[in-house]
Amino acid sequence: MPLTSDRVLCQNPVKIKRVVIDPGHGGHDPGTISANRRFHEKNITLSVSLKLGALINQEYPDIEVIYTRKTDKFIPLDQRSEIANKSKGDLFISIHVNGVGAKSASGSETFVMGPDHSSSNLKVSMLENSVITLEGDDYQSKYEGFDPNNPESYIIFTLLQNAHLEQSLTFASLVQKHSAGGPVRINRGIKQAGFLVLWKTTMPSVLVELGFITNTADLSVLSLEKNHEKFAWNIFNAFKEYRSMYEKESSELQPVVTATGNQGSKDEKSLPDDNIIFKVQIMAVNRLLEPSSHFFKGEKGVTYYKAGRFYKYMAGEFGSPEEAEKELIRLRKKFEGAFIVKLKKGVPSPYNKR
Ligand SMILES: [Zn+2]
Repeated sequence: MPLTSDRVLCQNPVKIKRVVIDPGHGGHDPGTISANRRFHEKNITLSVSLKLGALINQEYPDIEVIYTRKTDKFIPLDQRSEIANKSKGDLFISIHVNGVGAKSASGSETFVMGPDHSSSNLKVSMLENSVITLEGDDYQSKYEGFDPNNPESYIIFTLLQNAHLEQSLTFASLVQKHSAGGPVRINRGIKQAGFLVLWKTTMPSVLVELGFITNTADLSVLSLEKNHEKFAWNIFNAFKEYRSMYEKESSELQPVVTATGNQGSKDEKSLPDDNIIFKVQIMAVNRLLEPSSHFFKGEKGVTYYKAGRFYKYMAGEFGSPEEAEKELIRLRKKFEGAFIVKLKKGVPSPYNKR
């Protein structure tokens, strides 16, 4: 049986304070272009982004909206994530328009950072990332050897964002849900791909592809300003729902308790009141597991806390992130998506090296 604890984790529910909106492309990088050359992705993404930001400002004056660009200006990909990280955003929304050779491809889709390397996803991310080749010859050193034209380069970007994957997936699914009524009606769903701009951000992040500029039906929608308002409303409605879920979830955080029985007598002092400790989250599932559950794969001393629908299970306990990282390497062999969690006064949050 899980032990109970009388420690209360969360007196102050976490609030979304800052949203970063990233209008794709800009300046000398037009993004995808319509066949008649009249419509450029960069203008559509900026128009939708500014409308989305205005909606958020209007409904939530307390939330700060940060744009990676507000004008027709070229911003390198790494600067976009830097702007997001520096501003300590709580959510990153990158807005794009798709374009492919096949004129039949149409519909909207939302990407999260992830390990899916099916070839069509890869093509989209290669297209979006190829903007870094426009940034000059030093891009390989700037992006740590990342070559946008080499599929192998994408493999290294997979696991790094798992800490925020759950929230990114939630937001992505809400964007697709709220896009169901159009203006682009075909829903291509949620996808995972190695977008550089998502990889470098240390917060829940999505990349929305509004539709295909290369498809006649999608273009007729994308080219009209009044539809930009609708796109913005769809993403805004997704944000509204996400915000209430997120804030409800964090106010419902329940204390960290032992899941699999402790090793020795560590349990009582396992949550120092003011100290920062580190644990490794091994999984999040929507039910309480028996201590003997095979899901723990033999790990002892696993603790958990409940956040909204999820029971989040953590192994180990360390005074420094370096120690936790050693354990992370071991645990990732058993639990692929494991990541480090920081507990400050018992309140857990994903740990990112900034
Ligand atoms: Zn794009």
